[in-house]
Amino acid sequence: MSAALPAPDLHGYATHEVLNQPPPLADYDAYATDRALGDIVRAFGAGWAAERLHETGRTVGSAHVQELARAANRVLPELRSHDRFGNRVDRIDFHPAWHELMGLAIGQGTVSLAWRDPRPGAQVARGAVFYLWNQGEAGICCPIEMTYSAVPVLRRDPARWAEWGELILSDRYDGRQIRAGEKTGATVGMAMTEKQGGSDLRQTQTAATPNRDGTWSITGHKWFFSVPQSDVFLTLARTPEGVSCFVVAGWLPDGSRNRLQLQRLKDKCGNRSNASSEVEFRGAIAHLIGEPGRGIRTGLSMNHHTRLDCALGSAALMRQAVAQAAHHVSHRRAFQRTLIDQPIMQNVVADLALEAEAAAWLAFRFVAALDREGGSERERLLGRIGAPIAKYWVCKRVTPVVAEALECHGGNGFIEDHVMARLYREAPLNGIWEGTGNVICLDVLRSMEREPDCVSALLDELREAKGTDRRYDAALAGFEADLPDLRRREGQARRLVERIAVLLQAGLLLRHAPAEMADAFLASRVAGGWSGHFGDLPAGIDAGAVARRAVPLAG
Ligand SMILES: Cc1cc2nc3c(=O)[nH]c(=O)nc-3n(C[C@H](O)[C@H](O)[C@H](O)COP(=O)(O)OP(=O)(O)OC[C@H]3O[C@@H](n4cnc5c(N)ncnc54)[C@H](O)[C@@H]3O)c2cc1C
Repeated sequence: MSAALPAPDLHGYATHEVLNQPPPLADYDAYATDRALGDIVRAFGAGWAAERLHETGRTVGSAHVQELARAANRVLPELRSHDRFGNRVDRIDFHPAWHELMGLAIGQGTVSLAWRDPRPGAQVARGAVFYLWNQGEAGICCPIEMTYSAVPVLRRDPARWAEWGELILSDRYDGRQIRAGEKTGATVGMAMTEKQGGSDLRQTQTAATPNRDGTWSITGHKWFFSVPQSDVFLTLARTPEGVSCFVVAGWLPDGSRNRLQLQRLKDKCGNRSNASSEVEFRGAIAHLIGEPGRGIRTGLSMNHHTRLDCALGSAALMRQAVAQAAHHVSHRRAFQRTLIDQPIMQNVVADLALEAEAAAWLAFRFVAALDREGGSERERLLGRIGAPIAKYWVCKRVTPVVAEALECHGGNGFIEDHVMARLYREAPLNGIWEGTGNVICLDVLRSMEREPDCVSALLDELREAKGTDRRYDAALAGFEADLPDLRRREGQARRLVERIAVLLQAGLLLRHAPAEMADAFLASRVAGGWSGHFGDLPAGIDAGAVARRAVPLAG
């Protein structure tokens, strides 16, 4: 490389040669280059899906999808409340990139894969496709997550399933905002949160009144109503028996808009490609699903899947952020050396990589429980308590990981041209929806109280790794001694959940990951003394090996 100035260009503007910038991380296979994900997929019985995962990996790693994601986040969705004649239409206009991304992601099985072909490992395979797509474009993952998670609820009602099942499980996305009968595929939205409360859904004010034909009319408002262009929604409304769950089509069979009036779109901190609205239901036609008065329980049964998707989504954001950082520092030089070869940077990247990999193992462990719960009560109980633990901890860790990965880029990471700025704004979101941190931790306490066998299943899982590392054994013994007291203290619920999560991660890494990963995790997160800030791995750790495992492209 020459330090001499190049010859001025035709117009005489050239002042310098562009040096010391990494090549774009584009047109690569995001599955093949994610060694942790490959290990997870094989360990949890989804190795058969490798070909499909490579295809998804190449799609989400392509420069084309990166450009689509950028476009969908720069030209934002717009509410078209009326047509030019003044009629209400309540539609959302999107940049075409949004629809192309939706078509690609649904076409690769992000909704249907595990439900259509529920063979062993199917949920893990679908989880891996979803994890990869969260790195393609996180905004589209909101409708995908809701549609995937609505399946178990809708399937329980034969009439509703007959109406919607085929369309929801279709891999042929259809973005037209018209009645479902004319479409090749459908997406599902969720309308729960109202102004006076999102966590405490017992405060729901929206009311449902019965019609003579067996349908209901719903009147009220919803304060967060994402994907308002969805074909069908699950919503909560009051009946005389209490809060009940309803299925509301976006358009009626005669082609008219169901009586939903979109008030405005939210101007959000992140997740900007995805439309989130405020809505009024003005006598919207609906069908009751599940028992009247048991709507929160019915609605929340999809929550188990959405929470796991939040954990997968946040683990994916971490992987994307760390891959970007590792790529950047393997090319950028400062003070005569490549950044990744400088001891402090090596420690930072290794520490970040460790956090991201441990997050992925934790999230996928409870996705694997979905695959196994049919044949094992222990797995069902483990999944019951494990899903909220993973949701809480992975969503809690993603924001500091993304912030530190951004800093690894220096100023370049803070500029909108770079994907890091988008990841940074996205990072806190999964921690809010589907149960905020406190609510999730209270749910873990509740499951310990109401289903004490969950605790036995959890302890069995933790004991699987016993005897492999003395630091782990000591931490597990300490936890078992403290548990009877901790589980009684609501104010300490976060501490309890965090301790379980870290032990679960340590156990998973000990059982499945390369020795240097487990060793670094135990030395920092389990043995004590780790500050919680990245770049604090103790001496004696092979930080170079841990950091290099995260680099997506060699050379
Ligand atoms: C971008 C975006 C899109 C969304 N899309 C949808 C959607 O499509 N459909 C939908 O229904 N909702 C949607 N939501 C709403 C989301 O589900 C709620 O924001 C969430 O459930 C929290 O409810 P809340 O905002 O009313 O907060 P609150 O319930 O008021 O909580 C505020 C704070 O209090 C804490 N808290 C609550 N209860 C307790 C307690 N008992 N003890 C201690 N602390 C407590 C919470 O942890 C939180 O930190 C969306 C939100 C966002 C940000």
